[in-house]
Amino acid sequence: MSKEKQLEELRRVVLECRKCKLWQYRRNVVFGEGSPYTSIMFIGEAPGEKEDLSGRPFVGSAGKLLTQLINSIGLRREDVYITNVLKCRPPENRDPEPDEIEACRPYLEKQIEIIQPEIIVTLGRYSTKFILEAAGTTPQPISRIRGTVLRLKLRFLPREVIVLPMYHPAAALYNPRVRRYLEEDFKKLRQCIEHRIALKEPVTLDKFFNTT
Ligand code: SF4
Repeated sequence: MSKEKQLEELRRVVLECRKCKLWQYRRNVVFGEGSPYTSIMFIGEAPGEKEDLSGRPFVGSAGKLLTQLINSIGLRREDVYITNVLKCRPPENRDPEPDEIEACRPYLEKQIEIIQPEIIVTLGRYSTKFILEAAGTTPQPISRIRGTVLRLKLRFLPREVIVLPMYHPAAALYNPRVRRYLEEDFKKLRQCIEHRIALKEPVTLDKFFNTT
C-alpha cells in the first residue's frame, strides 16, 4: 500500500480517537501534513488555538516562524512532514500530560514508521523526550541537547536515523537568544541534509556527552 494510503487510513482512525480526555476539548484533530516521501520530519508538541481551529499543524505565530526557518534553508513546507506528539489541543495550551502522551504515542510512532525519515527534527522538550525514549536513551534537557546531531536507532524503525533536537519555535517568539539558537540549528540541519551520506560515524548521546 502506498504511503499516502497508509497515512490516510491512520488519519481516519485518529479523527475518531477518544483515547484520552483531550477529545472533549478539540474542534479539530491535527494529524500532520507534508510529503509522505520526505526524508525530513519535524515533530512539535501539541496543537495550539489556531491549529485546533484549522486542523493543520504550525499555522499560528510559531508556525510562521517555523515556515520561515524551513524556507531559509531552501526548503518548502511541502518538502517535509510536520506533526506533533499530541494530535488534540490541550485546554489553554497547557503542557501535555503523561497519560495523554502515552495514549497518543502509537499514532506518532506509526507516522514515523510509514514515512521512514532519514532526519527527525524534534521541536521542544516533549518531542525530544519522546524520540530519545524511543531510542532507549535517557532524556536530556533541551537547553543542553539542542543543536546536537545524533544518530539513533528507534525501536520502531529498521535502521538508524539522524535526530536533531531544537527549541520549539514558540519559545523563540519573544526571546531573541532562543531565536538565534534556532537559526544556528537550522544551518546545522542544512549541513545534515547536504552531508548525510557522509555521516558515517555514529554520533550517539554517550559519545557526545563523553567528549565535550
Ligand atoms: S490527543 Fe491523541 S490520544 Fe488523545 S484523543 Fe487526541 S488523538 Fe486521541
